Amino acid sequence: MTDARIIDGKEFAAGFRVRVAAGVAALAAEGIARPGLATVLVGADPASEVYVRSKGKTAAEIGMASFDHRLPAETTEAQLLELIGRLNKDADVNGILVQMPLPAHIDSAHVLMAIDPAKDVDGFHPMNVGRLGSIAAGAPLDFPVPCTPLGCSMLLTDALGSLSGKNAVVVGRSTLVGRPVAQLLLRADCTVTIGHSRTRDLDALCRTADILVVAIGKPEFVKSDWIKPGAAVIDVGINRLPAGDGKAKLVGDVAFAEAMKVAGHLTPVPGGVGPMTVACLMYNTLQATRRAAGLPFVAV
Ligand code: NDP
Repeated sequence: MTDARIIDGKEFAAGFRVRVAAGVAALAAEGIARPGLATVLVGADPASEVYVRSKGKTAAEIGMASFDHRLPAETTEAQLLELIGRLNKDADVNGILVQMPLPAHIDSAHVLMAIDPAKDVDGFHPMNVGRLGSIAAGAPLDFPVPCTPLGCSMLLTDALGSLSGKNAVVVGRSTLVGRPVAQLLLRADCTVTIGHSRTRDLDALCRTADILVVAIGKPEFVKSDWIKPGAAVIDVGINRLPAGDGKAKLVGDVAFAEAMKVAGHLTPVPGGVGPMTVACLMYNTLQATRRAAGLPFVAV
């Protein structure tokens, strides 16, 4: 059997960002102010700082305004909610991203609920979660959809074309990744099963999958004999392992080298799903700006 085709998320995301940038430029041609993305980081978690910096940099590269709000770790929930209230009212801000995780003394559910659903470019407000949960098969995604799951479904559609009728197994049931991925695959007419830490015979379940999406956060957990020959495998996991020289090596949730021998398509880590997350955030911000201006939805 030949090796799997690598799904090159880095390359796909680069092309997608160009299309989003063209959408941003088209707004200017219609006299609409450039989209604005506000990022909010509470505390100084190094990984979160990297993510927030990359989001601001990408926004600037594709012609959006970026408003960076850094708050100290001891910020109270009331202070954070007050900032969100101001951003909700600010006409220059079309998208609000509050970087998770928040410090333990802040209730993230209160924070997500406070964001104007129209500016919720992460797609985590209960109203947007409900929209995705109740979407009809094939209906347009004309509301903010969580970025990583949207990226997974775009990569799959690009690699496979129609997903209709395929058996999909999603391993992981988080509200951030697993559940919204499953909703998007249902919308695409897959037959979807979600596996999690209490699933029995998870390996046998995975072997039934034409499409296998793994989002658990366990390094190289899924082995090649869990994969149906020819399946499309999307590895969402990002795990940092010591690389021996004081540096960290990134690996996914799938044992990549051995999976390459069995899968039909496979995303690498890094360079698979990761780059799509930020690109989809830009896409959601563009769409939020279009909706705020009363323009019709257009897929990019
Ligand atoms: P969570 O920790 O929130 O959820 C993990 C899920 O995996 C849970 O549903 C859990 O099951 C399940 N799980 C854990 N262990 C097992 C096991 N042994 N067998 C089966 N299921 C298991 O993680 P996230 O969903 O937030 O993230 C998952 C991974 O994706 C992480 O590595 C994260 O870093 C990565 N990620 C990558 C992104 C990207 O841009 N590429 C973006 C977001 C996340 P249960 O519910 O039963 O506990």
